[in-house]
Amino acid sequence: MIPGSFDYHRPKTVDEAVALLGQYGEEARAIAGGHSLIPMMKLRLAAPEHLIDLGKIEALRGISRDGDTIVIGATTTQAELIASPVIASNLPILIETAMLIADPQIRYVGTVGGNVANGDPGNDMPALMQCLGADYVLKGASGERSVAARDFYEAAYFTALEDGELLTSIRIPLPPAGCGWAYEKLKRKVGDYATAAAAVMLKLHGGACSFASIALTNVGDTPLLAAEAAEALVGSSLDKSAIDAAVAAAEAITNPASDGRGPAEYRTRMAGVMLRRAIARAKNRAA
Ligand SMILES: Cc1cc2nc3c(=O)[nH]c(=O)nc-3n(C[C@H](O)[C@H](O)[C@H](O)COP(=O)(O)OP(=O)(O)OC[C@H]3O[C@@H](n4cnc5c(N)ncnc54)[C@H](O)[C@@H]3O)c2cc1C
Repeated sequence: MIPGSFDYHRPKTVDEAVALLGQYGEEARAIAGGHSLIPMMKLRLAAPEHLIDLGKIEALRGISRDGDTIVIGATTTQAELIASPVIASNLPILIETAMLIADPQIRYVGTVGGNVANGDPGNDMPALMQCLGADYVLKGASGERSVAARDFYEAAYFTALEDGELLTSIRIPLPPAGCGWAYEKLKRKVGDYATAAAAVMLKLHGGACSFASIALTNVGDTPLLAAEAAEALVGSSLDKSAIDAAVAAAEAITNPASDGRGPAEYRTRMAGVMLRRAIARAKNRAA
């Protein structure tokens, strides 16, 4: 389990990192926490000739509020996210989700940017970013562009990130005031990836659901935005028939693998169960 040989680079600025990524093209990979990339290299599923370590680039760290948007630097760790008062008061669903990722040791090192850029359908943050309508800021030699999380994931480990590009930050619009929220994850044991998971944001107005957003983790090649499931809730009182319709619409878009986490049919049903639980908790939390 020894990775292939590689050259190691440790830039101090975003521009230096982008220049290195541009210079070495498809032979280079950025490395943040390394908790997904290093195992892939050890298994020889990835064999970059140049590793560009982002750890010394201060500009990539930190969490701030920019008007109605929360900005998370790409190398902010999952532990820093959990400890952030800005996140606690504006987007507590991020903390609930991060607490379900792996274990504390991994969360001290694993980054939010690495989690969303990785392209592994088992990662928990991508579906949440889709649910929240986040944008990813990407920087390359030809400048900066923004890609919606909902457009970023193309297939397992294939994303809109191009060779030579760096994810610099994640921008998340503040949800409507009074939103209820929940992330429900079924896993075989503490520290495991999801058998199935669901993220829900919803708002109630006069007893009716006026806004809903739903996304699913690890029940397809990519995170899945369940737009029809959300539509089934909007306008309803979140009664049983509306929730049944939302669950059916969500299950219909899943296409999980049959693997050690269970047969595909079971994982689809578990996505429905996670969604049902997440809707119930989000409803209780909605002001
Ligand atoms: C035992 C174990 C259990 C885990 N369980 C879970 C879990 O339950 N849920 C979960 O979501 N994750 C889980 N993980 C993964 C963990 O959260 C990773 O740390 C995370 O997915 C990747 O973050 P990283 O900073 O380590 O990224 P790295 O491993 O450094 O990078 C991952 C990929 O993203 C790219 N990348 C990283 N940063 C950037 C950037 N700024 N710009 C462009 N590309 C970039 C790298 O080139 C690489 O391809 C687990 C990991 C382990 C080892």
